[in-house]
Amino acid sequence: MATSARSEDRALGGHGKFMDQLLKLAREALAEGEAPLAALVRKEARVLTRARATPAASGLRQHPELMALDSAGEAARDGSLYVTVEPCAMCLGAAALLRVKEVIYAVADPQEGGFHTVIYTGELATRAPAGIGGICREQVTELIREYLQRQPRGPESARLRALLAS
Ligand SMILES: [Zn+2]
Repeated sequence: MATSARSEDRALGGHGKFMDQLLKLAREALAEGEAPLAALVRKEARVLTRARATPAASGLRQHPELMALDSAGEAARDGSLYVTVEPCAMCLGAAALLRVKEVIYAVADPQEGGFHTVIYTGELATRAPAGIGGICREQVTELIREYLQRQPRGPESARLRALLAS
């Protein structure tokens, strides 16, 4: 059991353990009727902060990655940000400003995702986080499908439906 979990983690480039925690957060959001949007900030072996969609969140607080980054602050430097859906331009900008080294996401967002829409120049170009997409994509896609079945007209439904189509 432990051996197979370890080899699976290797297949995920060492991200498996953190993706498991991220998927758990996304399922918690889904259980509350929210979109399966979740984020966590990791530094080496430690998870610094976690955030997910909640019924109480409004405005920019609906972006869990911004919340997780904001809570981590300067400690996020050289850390990794894990998110279920590719972060938007605002959240990726926050990651770059905090000098996060990499962003690991499950589902890409070719329309609004920061890695698809932002081109850095100047100083930020030298320290923009690397993007690693498609990790645990099947699992998150399944959670998004479940959300759309329950909330066909939820606040995130149109955007998430477009992701599944792309
Ligand atoms: Zn965002």
